Amino acid sequence: MLMKRFFFIAIFISIVFSLNAQTNLNLLSEAEKDGITVYWDSLSGTGVLEKSGHQISFKADDPFVLQDYKKIVFVDAPILKNGTLYVSRKFITDANAFFKQEFSGSEYKVGAIVIDAGHGGQDPGAYDTYTVNGKKITIKEKEVTLKVSKMIYNRLKQAYPDKKILMTRDKDIFLELEERTEIANSIKLKDHEAILFVSIHANANPDKKASGYEVWYLSPDYRRNVLEKNSKIDNSVYNILNSMTEEEYTTESILIAKFIMDGIQAQIGNKSIQRGIKAYDWFVVRNAKMPSVLVELGFITNQNEAMNLLDDDYLQKLSLGIYNGLSAFVTHFERSHGFTGAK
Ligand SMILES: [Zn+2]
Repeated sequence: MLMKRFFFIAIFISIVFSLNAQTNLNLLSEAEKDGITVYWDSLSGTGVLEKSGHQISFKADDPFVLQDYKKIVFVDAPILKNGTLYVSRKFITDANAFFKQEFSGSEYKVGAIVIDAGHGGQDPGAYDTYTVNGKKITIKEKEVTLKVSKMIYNRLKQAYPDKKILMTRDKDIFLELEERTEIANSIKLKDHEAILFVSIHANANPDKKASGYEVWYLSPDYRRNVLEKNSKIDNSVYNILNSMTEEEYTTESILIAKFIMDGIQAQIGNKSIQRGIKAYDWFVVRNAKMPSVLVELGFITNQNEAMNLLDDDYLQKLSLGIYNGLSAFVTHFERSHGFTGAK
């Protein structure tokens, strides 16, 4: 009850402040002066300020920010005008005060990575048949995804002996979509630990010329309940916290997608084309309470690409690219969240 009253008073104060505040400073140039990095996702209208390993998440027009993904603070709402972000002097002063304080403990870590090999068992996924040296060969998505997933798994296992590295399947079995996310959601984590979920697939298209690889992340439009209901948290605060945590997962997912895309590009070069980063509003990880991406390795229906996907050397390159992307993200996540006491 006290929490509720505090909440309304805080809203009231923030409205009064935002009426008085001059929201006329260009956020990008102000941040640059203070050595603050700005990440901005125009698709979701959300952004993150980062300095000395700490983050402030914000959304255009929202009169509150989330500090280090856990504490809500009321601010003058940032405003987006003609593609430029504007904030008040107080917004900048408060951000600098937050970044300058002494931080203690609570280091963020990636506690687990789940690799999901798409399809399996009675569900082959995409498949096509080719004649190679006079022999008919059928290439099945479920086999390609399992091979690549195992390769990624082995690399991660070796690089991160202290993290939980899991596969949703390690043999040719059928799994319901719910079972895949259930595996990820049931992993026990310590406080300040995150899970990454990576689903591996291969593409098909009636147009046999279609080729290339893609990385997908969950669309910010898709609303998920990502926090367990906590009776100690006031309902209205809970809803805000919930939506901001969701935005965090979106931001992190976009970042993983970008790192994986770059990782594959570096390994594959011009052997395949980069079709870009895309947003799904429906896919296997829709129930996952964690940053999640889906990788489409290439097109089973394109003869050239199918031959590549049958070649273990090529699959090793793909898996190395995906591993490098994941590992770049882990480094980014753990360095930025885990860096304490920096000025
Ligand atoms: Zn698939």
